[in-house]
Amino acid sequence: AVDASAVVLNPHTDHFQVLVILYDVTYLRQVEQMQLDFVGNVSHELKTPVTAISGFAETLLQGAKDDPDALKQFLTIIYQESTRLSQLITDILALSQADSQNNSVQTVHLAKLVASVEASLQQQITQKQVHVMTEIPEDLTLQIDEMRLSQIIRNLLTNAIFYNHEAGNVLISATQKSNQQVELVVQDNGIGIESDEQQRIFERFYRVDKARSRNNGGTGLGLAIVAELVAKLDGKIQVNSQLGVGTRFVITLPNE
Ligand code: ADP
Repeated sequence: AVDASAVVLNPHTDHFQVLVILYDVTYLRQVEQMQLDFVGNVSHELKTPVTAISGFAETLLQGAKDDPDALKQFLTIIYQESTRLSQLITDILALSQADSQNNSVQTVHLAKLVASVEASLQQQITQKQVHVMTEIPEDLTLQIDEMRLSQIIRNLLTNAIFYNHEAGNVLISATQKSNQQVELVVQDNGIGIESDEQQRIFERFYRVDKARSRNNGGTGLGLAIVAELVAKLDGKIQVNSQLGVGTRFVITLPNE
């Protein structure tokens, strides 16, 4: 796509001189389109739980509240859908903050940070009886934005627990590479991801199995947030996965 502007250079001479400037706006148009798509997706995703909440509340008000079974069933749906709505709003805010704020660099003790993220997910870990192991050098520190790194680990660990089998394993490991880089690996022996889905999982709102993810409160934004945060930290992320075998996310971060 091309935009043009023209300037008359010297109107006082007898021969007319015009400067035409052409701009390639393909990239800008793509960004605009992506923003429009995102707003459309957000509206759609928010509307689904809101419609359910108002629909079931209306049915209750119209008389279903007098049937104790219906009352319990509909209130449960209203509760679940409002939890989902709240999770969506939290993730959408996290995504926009990941994009907009600048890094606030601090010294981060990686083993301690991972332990605190793990502690915050203890309920999910216990419920699923997943074994979380860590292999992180005790003296490994990073000069990095702690909030961002913590959110990356939290989202990856949440998925490694969630898309795992009962009593499955998760390993979080880190190595200081010689060339001023730290490699952080989160791997599980869970359900795995088919190879043609692997590049799409970082897209906003993308879920491999929509029905299953929705039932379980997934928003399809967790990995989009991770990808955005890793980019903000000037890092790289890769996924290796095999269906039925497990998934491994490798993040490389600069540590100067
Ligand atoms: P969701 O909220 O659905 O978990 P994510 O953006 O975190 O969204 O992940 C996108 C999709 O990638 C998920 O729906 C799931 O199908 C797949 N996925 C993510 N992490 C894993 C994992 N560790 N093992 C298997 N599948 C995964």
